[in-house]
Amino acid sequence: MTKEQILVIEDEKDILSMVRLRLESRGFDVFTAESGELALQWLADHKPDLILLDLMLPGMSGLEILKQIRTNQNIAQIPILIVSALGEESDVVVGLERGADDYLSKPFSMSILMARVNALLRRSKPEPEKKLNNEKKKEDSDDFIILGPLRIDIKRYHVFVENKSVALTSTEYRLLLTLIASRGRVLTRNQLIDEAIGNDSIVTDRTIDVHLTSLRSKLGSARNLIETVRGVGYRFQL
Ligand code: CA
Repeated sequence: MTKEQILVIEDEKDILSMVRLRLESRGFDVFTAESGELALQWLADHKPDLILLDLMLPGMSGLEILKQIRTNQNIAQIPILIVSALGEESDVVVGLERGADDYLSKPFSMSILMARVNALLRRSKPEPEKKLNNEKKKEDSDDFIILGPLRIDIKRYHVFVENKSVALTSTEYRLLLTLIASRGRVLTRNQLIDEAIGNDSIVTDRTIDVHLTSLRSKLGSARNLIETVRGVGYRFQL
């Protein structure tokens, strides 16, 4: 089996060497770049399995690098974990909206870094939709999604928690399906508005929070499957 390759874009040498050491000790092949320019040069003829991207860099910013990667067909699908310092929350939100898969705030522990890296790699193959399909097949029916205590009858728009029927509004239902389709990934409030509600209605961040609170309370024992990511958005985690 060939080693999985990770590109680490980071200008702080101490962090860079710690991260490299930890990733290499876990069997990853690590390439490092101290600027976006160097990273993009290397990406011209390499395709790593994952990219760790610091947001604050000399020269090209992390957000600009992210945009370049996501608009380059050859490398657009590579999972990206952004790393931010305190006070860069709004950049994190922009990053997630530009297609970063998850984020980590500095300072972070090496074990959390490894957990995020492994989760992203697991998710990138097979893709979330394929995973959902596999789970549906397990149940030997195309009409159900089953995740832990949750069972969703897609044809009848019906949700069950531990076999008890739960009555959701159509917005709550769409929010739930949107979160499940991106499970493991943080969705910002704006992404949830775009994907579950649509841009034509006037919806504020606060409205999304109200829908989510109501959805959660209806889910009862399955409520913890939807995680609040402070200052950023929500994530379905299972
Ligand atoms: Ca930095």
